[in-house]
Amino acid sequence: MDRVLVTGGAGYIGSHACKALKAAGFLPVTFDSLVTGWRDAVRFGPFEEGDLLDRARLDQVFATHRPVAVMHFAALSQVGESMSDPGRYWRNNVAGSLTLIEAACAAGCMDFVFSSTCATYGDQDGVVLTEDSPQHPINAYGASKRAIEEMLRDFEVAHGLRHVIFRYFNVAGADPEAEVGEFHQPETHLIPLMLDAIDGRRAGLTIFGTDYDTPDGTCIRDYVHVMDLVEAHVLGLNWLRGGKGSRVFNLGTGHGFSVREVIAQSGAVTNREVPFTEGGRRAGDCTRLVSGSSRAEAELGWRPTRSTMGQMIADAWRWHQNGHYDR
Ligand code: UDP
Repeated sequence: MDRVLVTGGAGYIGSHACKALKAAGFLPVTFDSLVTGWRDAVRFGPFEEGDLLDRARLDQVFATHRPVAVMHFAALSQVGESMSDPGRYWRNNVAGSLTLIEAACAAGCMDFVFSSTCATYGDQDGVVLTEDSPQHPINAYGASKRAIEEMLRDFEVAHGLRHVIFRYFNVAGADPEAEVGEFHQPETHLIPLMLDAIDGRRAGLTIFGTDYDTPDGTCIRDYVHVMDLVEAHVLGLNWLRGGKGSRVFNLGTGHGFSVREVIAQSGAVTNREVPFTEGGRRAGDCTRLVSGSSRAEAELGWRPTRSTMGQMIADAWRWHQNGHYDR
């Protein structure tokens, strides 16, 4: 069975990717530091603990498993924290990815699927965001991901590293079988925070900013179901293994939801009151991030089937109630 090295395989998106890879006939090998990941989220293949900055450890893992490709999810991903502690983001995300990319090239593992973000576009209100849109990130998280994209292009020119870059919009939902799900410590994301507030694990949700230039004053995001997202990764992997060239794909649905709309839908799906207060803006937040591309559908044949807001909240809620990791 062909092995795929999945960095961050113990994290939210990486663990769902491992499930999808296994279903597609690959053996996912998780490489994770467990700084933000969970050991019991590694359920679909071998586990190798390690830090991306540890080149010797990476070399050992490549030699042991001889993966045919890398899926690189491991990263710090909190916009707010990236503004207050940018050094962590440049070190972990950028220097860590450089170490990984060099190790992959040295091992001759030349198919690379990279988890990037719409945060690389920055705040371009009114502009339709396609893969060809200019990238002007307004936070260190987005800047770190853009730098890694540039790194991949340089390594392709110099060493022939083929890559698919996925720029995610907002990822939500969970495995409908609740084997894996979303759990961050600390949690900063809207939907899990809201579900915590709904069932009383948290006092209430604060809306970050109600004075944005949007119809209801709150930020607008494009949410995509994690199961649909990881399906795209399997398609991206097969794209590379089929000999097609490096390519960038946005992963979003093209539909934007304001924070207030997400709150209203969560109340409706869970049939509970969502306790919230209105607060000030969070540093680094863009007004509106919505994908304006259908390239993934057209070229990869990606067909998102679960990415309605109702389905994402329902699946997240099921995991929230039934699934858990030992902590
Ligand atoms: N948000 C909010 N309150 C929270 C967390 C998030 O109002 O406690 C808003 C945030 O400002 C953004 C949206 O919800 O407009 C999605 O934020 P999240 O952190 O989930 O993802 P991001 O867009 O930062 O990747």
